[in-house]
Amino acid sequence: MSKIVVLAKQVPDTANIRGKAMKEDGTVNRAALPAIFNPEDLNALETALQIKEKLGWKVVLITMGPPKAIEVIKDALYRGADEGYLVTDKKFAGSDTWATSYILAAAIRKIGGVKMVIAGRQAIDGDTAQVGPQVAERLGFNQVTYVTALDEVSQDAVVVERDGEFQTEVIRAPLPVLLTVTATANTPRYPSARNMLRYFKSDIAANIPPEKREIYDRNGWVIPVLDFAALDAKEEFIGLKGSPTKVHAIKDIAFSGGSLKMYDAHVEGVKMLVRDLLKEYVEVNS
Ligand SMILES: Cc1cc2nc3c(=O)[nH]c(=O)nc-3n(C[C@H](O)[C@H](O)[C@H](O)COP(=O)(O)OP(=O)(O)OC[C@H]3O[C@@H](n4cnc5c(N)ncnc54)[C@H](O)[C@@H]3O)c2cc1C
Repeated sequence: MSKIVVLAKQVPDTANIRGKAMKEDGTVNRAALPAIFNPEDLNALETALQIKEKLGWKVVLITMGPPKAIEVIKDALYRGADEGYLVTDKKFAGSDTWATSYILAAAIRKIGGVKMVIAGRQAIDGDTAQVGPQVAERLGFNQVTYVTALDEVSQDAVVVERDGEFQTEVIRAPLPVLLTVTATANTPRYPSARNMLRYFKSDIAANIPPEKREIYDRNGWVIPVLDFAALDAKEEFIGLKGSPTKVHAIKDIAFSGGSLKMYDAHVEGVKMLVRDLLKEYVEVNS
């Protein structure tokens, strides 16, 4: 059976900060930021689930992160994904987008039989929007970024709409293809109560007591882990060693408002606004 891989990242919920977002040493204070499913990755999952409904393909979610990131996998299983892999290893720590995409591409190759990869356009913490296109390059897949709608899909090709800034582009791409989707592409479905009951206990093997392992295996509750040893990957391309990005400095930036002046929305008010703007322009430029 053909597979669709969905790439999903667990990210700090930057809209719900509880306390100081940054620590004194300039690193992220994760305790102040609850972890959530990266929002556009939910749109990626929804796109994959719609394709599954049409073509019967298997939806496989991959997340790279610490063991806590299995929360994203469980959430995806609750929403209708068939399988989820946690990609994790201490050796992956310090990976920039280039090394991250190398590891994710190795995981996709390992899973095998993948005809389509769907990622979110951008993660709300790193914000680079680089990982999707880099994974496509590494796999040699076609790619369409900024997808706003899925029009058609068949065993050989996909037709999608793409946000071209000033126009909507309609693109037909032969498979295998990687899509990055935006928040407007669809409305993610809710987790189903049936799937929540089915997968509630799912966990990685390391967290399962040995005497319960057999029950977990029988019920399909074991979340597979892909570590460095499981991938066909070279150590020089991962972690800090494989990351060409060097962070020079991190600064806490606080925006503050200036003084506010209101103008009446009639002729006199507009005249006064123009006078003030001209005065300010002359002061700035003299
Ligand atoms: C020098 C350096 C060191 C770093 N060290 C660390 C570190 O030690 N630990 C750490 O957590 N981060 C680290 N990072 C951050 C890490 O590189 C990025 O978070 C990661 O590459 C994703 O980039 P992004 O957030 O810009 O994602 P984007 O490119 O904006 O993401 C686009 C899409 O790609 C997919 N995607 C992105 N990341 C993942 C993922 N992890 N799993 C599955 N799908 C994904 C999602 O679908 C997402 O919507 C480091 C970055 C730099 C520059």
